[in-house]
Amino acid sequence: MQWQKISTVLLDMDGTLLDKYFDDYFWEEFLPQVYGKQNNLQEAEAQKVLYRRYRSVEKTLLWTDLNYWTEELDLDIIGLKKQIAHLISINPHVIDFLQFLQNQQKSIYLVTAAHPAALDIKMSKAGLSGYFQQMICADELGRPKEDVQFWNSLEERLGFERQRTLFADDNVNVLNAARSHGIRYLVHIAKPSSRQPARYCDEFTSVSAFDELIVPSADPITARRN
Ligand SMILES: [Mg+2]
Repeated sequence: MQWQKISTVLLDMDGTLLDKYFDDYFWEEFLPQVYGKQNNLQEAEAQKVLYRRYRSVEKTLLWTDLNYWTEELDLDIIGLKKQIAHLISINPHVIDFLQFLQNQQKSIYLVTAAHPAALDIKMSKAGLSGYFQQMICADELGRPKEDVQFWNSLEERLGFERQRTLFADDNVNVLNAARSHGIRYLVHIAKPSSRQPARYCDEFTSVSAFDELIVPSADPITARRN
């Protein structure tokens, strides 16, 4: 990674900074259990019903809209997420990486598809918000991160230089949209969940953890001059 050429770093939250196991467990196991109980369905059956509903709004803002699911399923989704908040955890080497970026005087932004209420729950548990200049939810820009228009709006809002920006995400579709927009440095997170093996991808620099991007030393003053 040519750090001296990078001034802005955009970071996804779920699966990138935070263990995606929380989200996988919530949507794939915990919610089907609760939904099944409420609707007198076996867990497998509830899973089938819910998965169909999830798929119908994939890659749209509804997928991450907690108010949408609260209404759709007649369940207190925010309350349910809080019930399992103890499962929220930070991926390996994330804090070291954020400190490295701070030492390098990069502008750091959190760019997430998560709903603002989910962002609140996660950040109050993870305590990372102090590292970011701003935290942006796709919801605020009115488009999902998979949509190239999202990146136009994000650039308008933050004013980053595409050629001097790095973006890290665990979602290849999102990375492709960022690439179409012209973001120069793209990093794929190959191990978003502590419970899944790493799955590397060929199209992007693909790392299992952020320690692979940390360069030791590098005096920030020299880095800025370059
Ligand atoms: Mg993600």
